[in-house]
Amino acid sequence: AAVEGFDIEDVEGAIEAAGHGPLPVLAVVGRPNVGKSTLVNRIIGRREAVVEDKPGVTRDRVTYEAEWAGRRFKVVDTGGWEQDVLGIDASVAAQAEYAIEAADAVVFVVDAKVGATDTDEAVVRLLRKAAKPVVLAANKVDGLSGEADAAYLWSLGLGEPHPVSALHGRGTGDMLDAVLEALPEAPEQTFGTAVGGPRRIALIGRPNVGKSSLLNKVAGEERVVVNEIAGTTRDPVDELIELGGVIWKFVDTAGIRKRVHLQQGADYYASLRTAAAVEKAEVAVILIDASESISVQDQRIVTMAVDAGRAIVLAFNKWDTLDEERRYYLEREIETELAQVAWAPRVNVSARTGRHMEKLVPAIETALAGWETRVPTGRLNAFLGELVSAHPHPIRGGKQPRILFGTQAGTKPPRFVLFASGFIEAGYRRFIERRLREEFSFEGTPIHISVRVRE
Ligand code: GDP
Ligand code: GDP
Repeated sequence: AAVEGFDIEDVEGAIEAAGHGPLPVLAVVGRPNVGKSTLVNRIIGRREAVVEDKPGVTRDRVTYEAEWAGRRFKVVDTGGWEQDVLGIDASVAAQAEYAIEAADAVVFVVDAKVGATDTDEAVVRLLRKAAKPVVLAANKVDGLSGEADAAYLWSLGLGEPHPVSALHGRGTGDMLDAVLEALPEAPEQTFGTAVGGPRRIALIGRPNVGKSSLLNKVAGEERVVVNEIAGTTRDPVDELIELGGVIWKFVDTAGIRKRVHLQQGADYYASLRTAAAVEKAEVAVILIDASESISVQDQRIVTMAVDAGRAIVLAFNKWDTLDEERRYYLEREIETELAQVAWAPRVNVSARTGRHMEKLVPAIETALAGWETRVPTGRLNAFLGELVSAHPHPIRGGKQPRILFGTQAGTKPPRFVLFASGFIEAGYRRFIERRLREEFSFEGTPIHISVRVRE
């Protein structure tokens, strides 16, 4: 498309860049103290103090965006907690399992100075089973003399150990080159295997909002166990459940079960599980306890799903317990605390009585439809033309920036690129988003709008 004042390459490049779907996910796993958090800090290239806040402290943030050699991806940091009462092997394994499950590729960090331990070997077995691409980082190789230690790690059978010093940055560039080779362009979960398969739902929410009650209610007690591994009884990870005559895949249902033994770092486990489930899903059903005030933790979970670009349904549970006064205050709270998802379809349910369970599927379908909506370029520009002439951008410094052309670069969620003749103010961007939503009904989906300005 030719846009007045833009090079054709710029326009094509901008549309291409904006069209990229969800980012591939890299998990960084390994024993405590091998340097995972230090390495994550290196990879994300920021001092976000990942190392400072250690277990005991609530850490909601587990995924970070990173970029290397012009490619963007997400990093899941598992450095956030210590062993639980079951001991180090069990906790490292549980941690690694969640992270590996959600990832497209894994960096496995081993302390080269210590060498491979039994716990490391246990993680290797998990990695083999998961069959995801692995980059082996032999950490704490701060100088040439450490390279020999790294070479010993060939014995793990994971291929070439990459000697790195997370602390000083030595070797991390080469390791990241290997990471880029291992990472797919687009996440497997979204664009690969699942095309045409059951739609993937993540049922998320803070502890005790009623996730397992709801799952039991919708699925009945006899649930389909999809992931039965011979000889072992294992929590199912994903379950197929029929709702409204359609089979849906509820991802990471193991995370919904209570794991009583998880005491230390339980909040952190919860965050990691939520992040993992959201990464694997197309739509997030966010359960909120309507009987209690909407909390910061609820908001963080909402933000996680929005940032991940998932379709979203808000389900207010425990409706059976609400009196008139609480209902009044809840509405006010929703307006102020959940303004960022004012566009999400909402159902008021009770997992206990079964109230409004039948409204869940239509809400999910609405959100998925919005998430997949594609607006033809002709229609979009007709709409933008009218909007811009009826409500022009305010004049700034004697000039009036104009939207010249727009196109939808991608779906799931919808992503738009607008080309403008000058800087478009935030207020006007929000106005455009609001009008786009009114016009094309993006109910239940975040939308991204990027604006390119003529040089
Ligand atoms: P995690 O528990 O795996 O996340 O490990 P941390 O990132 O918290 O690091 C554990 C300790 O190892 C900290 O004291 C770090 O400073 C140290 N460390 C991390 N990477 C390196 C490294 O490359 N060289 C050296 N010498 N120390 C490191
Ligand atoms: P989870 O931690 O999110 O999986 O929450 P649970 O399903 O374990 O529920 C936490 C508590 O809330 C349990 O005592 C449930 O019986 C209760 N609960 C769940 N849903 C409802 C509901 O709709 N109404 C009422 N009154 N209680 C509920």
